[in-house]
Amino acid sequence: MKLDLLIVTAHPDDAELGAGGTIAKYVSQGKKVGILDLTRGELGTRGTAETRKEEASRAAAILGVSFRENVGLADGFFVNNQESQLAIIYYIRKFQPEIVITNALDDRHPDHGRASKLVNDSLFLSGLRRIQTKEDKQVQEPFRPRLQLQLIQDKYIKPDVVIDITNFWDIKEKSILAYTTQFNSSGDDLEPQTYISNPDFMESTRGRASEFGRNIQVKYAEGFTARKILGVTDIFHLI
Ligand SMILES: [Zn+2]
Repeated sequence: MKLDLLIVTAHPDDAELGAGGTIAKYVSQGKKVGILDLTRGELGTRGTAETRKEEASRAAAILGVSFRENVGLADGFFVNNQESQLAIIYYIRKFQPEIVITNALDDRHPDHGRASKLVNDSLFLSGLRRIQTKEDKQVQEPFRPRLQLQLIQDKYIKPDVVIDITNFWDIKEKSILAYTTQFNSSGDDLEPQTYISNPDFMESTRGRASEFGRNIQVKYAEGFTARKILGVTDIFHLI
């Protein structure tokens, strides 16, 4: 399956938090969108790897993505080495996405910056024909996406581009709330409250979307950074 857009991020819920509106927007336009989680989020304070898996598949259904898969790297401990890179290259060559969105270059959770660098390196290596990977015993074709963007999650980072997601905020919020063990806890369950389980966290996520939106005179937007200069063929497409 050839994808238009692939989100490759460290933990289940990173994609929803940083790019849920963008995912829903392009799904609604008939684009093929997938999510590749690098880990199962097994070190999360609340819930378990099993509950997180169920929540991730509910969120994927809400967003309407074509597929969601998990690379199975170790939460908190994965490293940017040959083994991790080859695991990601396999998926990049399999799905041949035009655009890849990954984690922020630097963030509160050290996995995020590490995932960003790992994915960046893997995308480059995926284009080298002398790196051989196989799918069902068939040698895969080298492939490099034409654009990589980084989402913005915990830490404020000035975006290089913002995308209007006003009509998709509700879907984004629903997809985040599908992670029932992680977000919007009333505090009366038996698990410890965390930075993200407090209902204030959703308010700050909405506030960020509103702030990015205000920059382009829309209600909500998501922001992304790029490692290269972004160009358009038509400046009238800019808003
Ligand atoms: Zn994360």
